[in-house]
Amino acid sequence: MKTTTFPHHQICGAIHLHTLYSDGGVSFGELIDAARQCELDYIVVTDHMTLKGREAGYEKFHDDLMVLVGYEHNDPQKQNHYLAIGTGKAFPQLQKPQQYIDAVKENGGIGFLAHPAEKRNYFGGLPPYPWTEWDATGYDGIELWNQMSDWMENLRSWRSFFRLLYPRRFLSNVPDELLEKWDNLNQSRFVSGIGGIDAHTRKLTIGPFAYTVFPIKVELKGVRTHLYMPQKLTDFPFDQARLLFLKALKNGNGFISNYRRGDAKGTQIYLQQHENGTIQLPGLNEHSNCVPAVLKVQLPSEGTVRFLRNGAVAKSVKGQSAEFEITGGGVYRVEVYKGKNAWIYSNPFPVG
Ligand SMILES: [Zn+2]
Ligand SMILES: [Zn+2]
Repeated sequence: MKTTTFPHHQICGAIHLHTLYSDGGVSFGELIDAARQCELDYIVVTDHMTLKGREAGYEKFHDDLMVLVGYEHNDPQKQNHYLAIGTGKAFPQLQKPQQYIDAVKENGGIGFLAHPAEKRNYFGGLPPYPWTEWDATGYDGIELWNQMSDWMENLRSWRSFFRLLYPRRFLSNVPDELLEKWDNLNQSRFVSGIGGIDAHTRKLTIGPFAYTVFPIKVELKGVRTHLYMPQKLTDFPFDQARLLFLKALKNGNGFISNYRRGDAKGTQIYLQQHENGTIQLPGLNEHSNCVPAVLKVQLPSEGTVRFLRNGAVAKSVKGQSAEFEITGGGVYRVEVYKGKNAWIYSNPFPVG
């Protein structure tokens, strides 16, 4: 087997952010400053039902930070939230989910089901908004890990007030039922997974106290989406960088991490075919994945690496690197844990 070095550049950023243009608590300027301080390569802002941030000219490079403006569509019942990214316009609200999925695609955009399995156990005033139209087709992916949903789901009683003070400590993992759903969807067609923050930077008022639950810089140090790209985004003119980014996101060429468990920058997850040494990224590639091959993981710090085949754990290894031999077809993916908390979820590798 020929040895080949991993020939890809990695970018890391935050998706699903709200600003004052809808119900977020920060201006675009504040959000951009925070993202730059956190050294993110990109952010994707998705205010509810509006592209005002794009109209105001924020969609461009801000030094090394790429800012993309999409929007979050919902149906007239406020259900079935959909992250529409890369469309030139926002569509009217009186549409069924299948209609806005189709409209986004027809206008050159890509779309992700937002917080599809959201449950909320505590706050009566903030009901859950799960995805209910599972018969819909044609969406590009799902928001696998939603930082806000994860946190809210576990907020069950006054004793959990503690969570308000240390919100990121409680981000645990993607619910099993959503992982199962995602694995099942990927048996029939590729469905990309992204991490979303759903940053609102809301002030929560409890009795006499008003508390900003997640200050924006804290929000940006949680769930992140990493993508493997041919080069740095800023090596390209903006329009080209934007298209390359949308393609990598749609094709799921990367993984999701929770920064709170460790900086996952530099993580390598790839499949290497034995016959010619070809390296394949997670998600969809130009060429399909052939066996025999080896799935390789290289981490910046130690974790427990789980290799999954068709949704079932096939091997678990603790360390900074791990390998898994693949001899037959299936849909393979990788999860990495720090203790009992999830750190990394790769996109799937469809094989055969
Ligand atoms: Zn939403
Ligand atoms: Zn949202």
